Amino acid sequence: MVRPAQVFREKQDIDLRTGHRVESIDPANKSGKGATSEGKAFDFSYDKLLLATGSRANIPDVPGVGLPGVFALKSLEDGRRIKQHIAKTPVRKTVVVGMGYIALEMCEALRSRGIEVHMVKPGPIFIPWLNPELADAVRQEVEAHGIGLYPGHEIKRIEAEKEVMTVVCSDMELKGEMVLLGVGVSPCSELAAGAGLSLGPNHSVAVDRFMMTSDHDIYAAGDCADAYHGVTGKKTWIPLALRANRSGWAAADNVIGRKVALQGVVGTAVFKVFDMQIARTGLSVKEAQDFGFDSAETVIRSRSRAHAHPGASGIWAQVVGDKKTGRLLGAQMVGKEGVAHRINAAAVALHAKMSVEAFSQSDLAYAPPFGPTWDPLLTAANQVLKQL
Ligand SMILES: Cc1cc2nc3c(=O)[nH]c(=O)nc-3n(C[C@H](O)[C@H](O)[C@H](O)COP(=O)(O)OP(=O)(O)OC[C@H]3O[C@@H](n4cnc5c(N)ncnc54)[C@H](O)[C@@H]3O)c2cc1C
Repeated sequence: MVRPAQVFREKQDIDLRTGHRVESIDPANKSGKGATSEGKAFDFSYDKLLLATGSRANIPDVPGVGLPGVFALKSLEDGRRIKQHIAKTPVRKTVVVGMGYIALEMCEALRSRGIEVHMVKPGPIFIPWLNPELADAVRQEVEAHGIGLYPGHEIKRIEAEKEVMTVVCSDMELKGEMVLLGVGVSPCSELAAGAGLSLGPNHSVAVDRFMMTSDHDIYAAGDCADAYHGVTGKKTWIPLALRANRSGWAAADNVIGRKVALQGVVGTAVFKVFDMQIARTGLSVKEAQDFGFDSAETVIRSRSRAHAHPGASGIWAQVVGDKKTGRLLGAQMVGKEGVAHRINAAAVALHAKMSVEAFSQSDLAYAPPFGPTWDPLLTAANQVLKQL
């Protein structure tokens, strides 16, 4: 997507074979087999092998998901198919199954084309990993743009009658001319599993800090591989682009003998829906408790600019700390400006394993157009300190 295949072949002398699906690998003989898109068998051998097979869209196990007019939200090809469908069918209403970040980004894209959107999912909570007060601010923004939100409805099947698709739930039905499936992704780890390699969380390929799998000649990187969590120290699976890219670089360095160990991830993520930015890093309160921390949490409402500065909007900031050690465990933010990059200060503090107190004393930038004197994250840290 980022560079044409020809650039790899001509500029970098890489034997790049598109349309070749690897179907199995044989670590004992350091070889693999597969088939081309025309059905022709091929095989290959290797000294070192890197698995970078990414992830695939989860598809709900209900009848009707294969109907024309039902689309997953994963590849560029999915995007093209959706655009073609909209071009040939008058789509007035769309039902989006799922309420994760990709589903929410899609609902904004559809609204900008004037399409009515209803979102539905089985879980009862709108964005479960987000603090409820922050999630409520996002929910209000989404509903203000006319999106119908239906959490807590089990999807039973999808039906089609001419151009009208119906998502049938246990207790209601939603209709539209298109259905989008945005219910998360799973690692493509079948090659690794078939070769007997160790697997990690969510069946991702288990790797060490050098991206080496349980076989010394096989590495794995990107969405298919697991990672160490910088806060818990435990294995985790967080399929995001920076880690994918960075782990590919590290694997390549290690294959050629430069020793590069990766620190791990702290789950920093950001997205926007309509005018609302949503950002997180580290652990939510629930995650902290699940990992056995005795956590304390504060939510504050601050502003994106200094009090007297025109154009300011609200920022909600949440900070989580550990009562036992005083350590910073996580932070979340929601607001209409200045959220996306602010969260990075907390992400760096997590990598440095800072205490909430040390973080609260960080010398963060201030000028009226950019924030209040006390950055919202510092105000939240000051508040949580009182509980530690
Ligand atoms: C809609 C969408 C929006 C996103 N937005 C963000 C964002 O804003 N921020 C962010 O950090 N991340 C985002 N992500 C996640 C990000 O795109 C991924 O983390 C990243 O692309 C993973 O890269 P990868 O190379 O590991 O996997 P992929 O990009 O999935 O590539 C895997 C490749 O392996 C190939 N492959 C798989 N199996 C085989 C096989 N058996 N034989 C041969 N080839 C095979 C596939 O065809 C594919 O080319 C988004 C993802 C999606 C779907």
